[in-house]
Amino acid sequence: MNSDFDVLVIGGGIIGATAGHHAASAGYDTLLVEQDDYASATSSRTSRMQNCGFMYFMDLHGAGSQVLRDPRRIVSSLELARRAMRERADFVRSSPDRVRRCEFYVPYGGTTGITGWQMRAATMAMRLLGGAGLSLEPAFLSAGEARVHPLLRMIASSGELQGALRYVEYQYVSPERIVVDTIVRGREAGLDARNHTRLVGLRRGAAGWEATLEHGGTTSAITARAVINAAGAWVDDITGLASNRAPRLNTGAKGVNLLVRLPAAARGLGFEAVTARGTPFYLFPWGELHYIGPADTAADAATTEFRATDREIAEILSDANHFFPDLNLTASDVLYSWAGVRPRTAGANAPMGTFEVREHDLSDHGMPGFIVFTGGLFMTHRDAGRRLVRALGRHIAPSRPSRTPDYTLTSQADEDRVTALSVRRAIVDEQARDLSDILRRRLLVAWSDDLGLGVAEEASRHAADVLGWDEAEREAQLAAYRAGIERSFRPRAAASGEADPRPPNFPESPPSGP
Ligand SMILES: Cc1cc2nc3c(=O)[nH]c(=O)nc-3n(C[C@H](O)[C@H](O)[C@H](O)COP(=O)(O)OP(=O)(O)OC[C@H]3O[C@@H](n4cnc5c(N)ncnc54)[C@H](O)[C@@H]3O)c2cc1C
Repeated sequence: MNSDFDVLVIGGGIIGATAGHHAASAGYDTLLVEQDDYASATSSRTSRMQNCGFMYFMDLHGAGSQVLRDPRRIVSSLELARRAMRERADFVRSSPDRVRRCEFYVPYGGTTGITGWQMRAATMAMRLLGGAGLSLEPAFLSAGEARVHPLLRMIASSGELQGALRYVEYQYVSPERIVVDTIVRGREAGLDARNHTRLVGLRRGAAGWEATLEHGGTTSAITARAVINAAGAWVDDITGLASNRAPRLNTGAKGVNLLVRLPAAARGLGFEAVTARGTPFYLFPWGELHYIGPADTAADAATTEFRATDREIAEILSDANHFFPDLNLTASDVLYSWAGVRPRTAGANAPMGTFEVREHDLSDHGMPGFIVFTGGLFMTHRDAGRRLVRALGRHIAPSRPSRTPDYTLTSQADEDRVTALSVRRAIVDEQARDLSDILRRRLLVAWSDDLGLGVAEEASRHAADVLGWDEAEREAQLAAYRAGIERSFRPRAAASGEADPRPPNFPESPPSGP
């Protein structure tokens, strides 16, 4: 195994994956290490949206006076929205199998706290920023149309609505699959990617950066001329291995979502609003179900369990019932929940971090060729990869010829079900090592209403054939999978049961509407 590299990338979430893919494509001899499996941390706990960037304008509305005091925020929000629009168009075009189109509604007037002119201004700004030809397809519903719309008529005081904006978003079918696809594209370009390999030591030596890796209980040493720290909410811990003088750059923000079954009239429809606290609230359509959230709190990834607490679940249900009182959702309606810690760029007076998404070159802090990425988002990850390669280019030259990064991500045979073929490919071609790697991050079965539990037994038998597990190991894998699901997702006992949470007085038949 090679032990001398141009670049060491730490982290196998979406930012590490894109960094590895772009660096290898640019001709750098690159090693990527991930302590667990690819996409096993925050990149598998998202709301799965390739957002158009509208949220940056919602933020502006929520903090009008602050923005006037700090006009730089307007400029940075416009830049982030422009980036989001451009990346959305590029991703949807190059990887159409990995997204699905869905419609979102933002009501205004009444008790929403949003006005029609704000929505028109935001839509106009988005149009001027351009979307590389992939329109938001915005449409404005009149007050009359909004009040009889199948979803919006369920809102509290819907009779006072002045209208609504409808626009098109794209949702990832599986973020985990996109991370693995990106790693695969990187490996095709020469990336040496190692999952279940943890960075445990890092220092600057005569040969450049000297790293100690731990894999399966044994340690090994490698050197690299440059380092990309893409460890998400853990970036400061990684930097701290090499220096105790470098600035802290990350602020963690825990986010939670809940999966629920809403009345059939809401099926397939998305909803976006701002809570009284000024935070965004969404209903995301998911097949016949919806997930709702997020509830965000400041959190340190090192000490925070990736699991929703009772209090967080109650907060989201309270928000949902505030907007849709007739739903009367309770904890027993939650099919399951999930949580992650967002990496956010630290900022003065920003307890939840800032919206900045950027690389930091720590050369001036005695760390030559050491680059940290903060605030990285799924939706703009390819832009992050290109920025990181530009930053590398200011320090070192590639040792091989470059090639254009291959952005084409396409579906594969049997990827949405457990078969001998799909399990073998996950293990042999895509580095899966355990049942969770296979079910949660290679096949598209993990976000079903039973979280893949129904196919775990069959997958374990196929995996045993390929990995040589004996019966005791196969049973241990199954038990570990079930325990992991229980711990992280808190599934309701009969998650796929058909108990309908609708209150009896809930309007069911959709009236005519746009
Ligand atoms: C509730 C929620 C909803 C979200 N919704 C969206 C959305 O809709 N759209 C969107 O674009 N973004 C969304 N995000 C944000 C997005 O998920 C994250 O910003 C993104 O996934 C961060 O990716 P990352 O690679 O930086 O971090 P991670 O995915 O956390 O990857 C970092 C990796 O570093 C590894 N690591 C740490 N230490 C070491 C070590 N010592 N050695 C080796 N590896 C190490 C970790 O194991 C981890 O896998 C959401 C986030 C949350 C929490």
